[in-house]
Amino acid sequence: MPPVYLDHAATAPLRPVARAAMMAALDAGPANPHANQHAPGLAAARRLKADRAHLAQAVGCVPAEVILTGGATEANNLAIKGLALAGRDRGRHRVLIGATEHACVRESAAWLTTLGFAVEPLPVTADGVLDLTALAAALDDRAAVVAAMAVNNETGVRHPIEAIAAITRRAGAALHCDAAQAPGRIPIPWSPSGPTTLSLSAHKVGGPVGIGALILRRDPPTALSTQMHGGGQERGLRAGTVPVALAAGFAAALEEAVAETGHRAAHARLLEQRLLAGLDRAGIPFVHNGAGAPRTPGIISLTLDQPAEMVMDACPDLALSSGAACQTVDDGPSRTLLAMGLCAEAADRTVRISLGPDTTAADIDHAVGALVRALGDRTCGTAGHPDMTGMHQAPPAQHRQQDRLEASASAGAADPGAGVPSIGGPAAP
Ligand code: PLP
Repeated sequence: MPPVYLDHAATAPLRPVARAAMMAALDAGPANPHANQHAPGLAAARRLKADRAHLAQAVGCVPAEVILTGGATEANNLAIKGLALAGRDRGRHRVLIGATEHACVRESAAWLTTLGFAVEPLPVTADGVLDLTALAAALDDRAAVVAAMAVNNETGVRHPIEAIAAITRRAGAALHCDAAQAPGRIPIPWSPSGPTTLSLSAHKVGGPVGIGALILRRDPPTALSTQMHGGGQERGLRAGTVPVALAAGFAAALEEAVAETGHRAAHARLLEQRLLAGLDRAGIPFVHNGAGAPRTPGIISLTLDQPAEMVMDACPDLALSSGAACQTVDDGPSRTLLAMGLCAEAADRTVRISLGPDTTAADIDHAVGALVRALGDRTCGTAGHPDMTGMHQAPPAQHRQQDRLEASASAGAADPGAGVPSIGGPAAP
């Protein structure tokens, strides 16, 4: 039996509609949409135009605002570097980055320091929400760009993008929003009063790996410096032949994901509550990171009393992760969790469980059983952790869990008999 797949934030299974759209495009013959001097090229251009229109409709923008890229990493690079360089032309050389941004946003910004930009992290609260007071205080007429993600890929915590956009706009800076984890979970935060640019990734919504988009505001026009030079495709902002079949899969997946948003959030909330209640009933100590913040259910960050690696080794029938997929390449403790006040050691005891639209109650029950066996079996790791300091203050509903985690750590064993009531009211959508 394949493992129960609970890593949808890393990549989502390909949706049948996306597969069908891609197969149709691949079977339609040669497809360079920029070869406009013959019928196959023109057919590809027509197909791409239709898919761009579908993407735009799903986002709520106009087709000319959709710049297709190789994924959200590339879209984030284009936005952060492109907006910063355009801002420098207006005398702005500060780049402000939320402390829990994805590595590709963080590293794009870090690279800008080699060009003389000042890159400054924006703090988050203990629950992981961008600190708006700190943002307002940090902004001035030297700020070129602010980056704030819509949904954190490790905790599901949502940043208030409209409020951030209003504060940022007042200072005359651009706002980039990494919305890779938003579609299907929350409405895509694109509106006339929203961010300047917004990035998306096809494979996070059940489309193919290898394509994404930067949504670039045209009204008022946005100055963005090109990062990929070549044949002038994508309105001169991203050179390279556009992969028509991938665009077809992306459009089909995004449309379906957006259409199911409300229903999926309700489903994820129920499953999340089932998971937490199941662990709780079994007396498994955990802290649910970000539980007190507005968040989208279904991306669940749990700090346990044993190292995440050991727990995952003990649960080969579960596909979980110890944090962001990129973090496992980075191999350091999660920057998101550190920014929320966890110590490195607590971050290393944290697993991410991320659900998808097809995750079932039986999957959750299976996961609870496997985790209870792993965490109840003290031979799978050290017998609890003596040092639980550095954990952030959990919200009131979590205090019982925090207390029990600490008790477990010092006693060296979980208390399977503890009949603590289930935790966590409904999370914000
Ligand atoms: N931004 C966020 C929030 C993500 O979760 C990811 C995926 O890991 C990315 C960006 C990068 O997306 P892609 O794999 O399309 O480059």
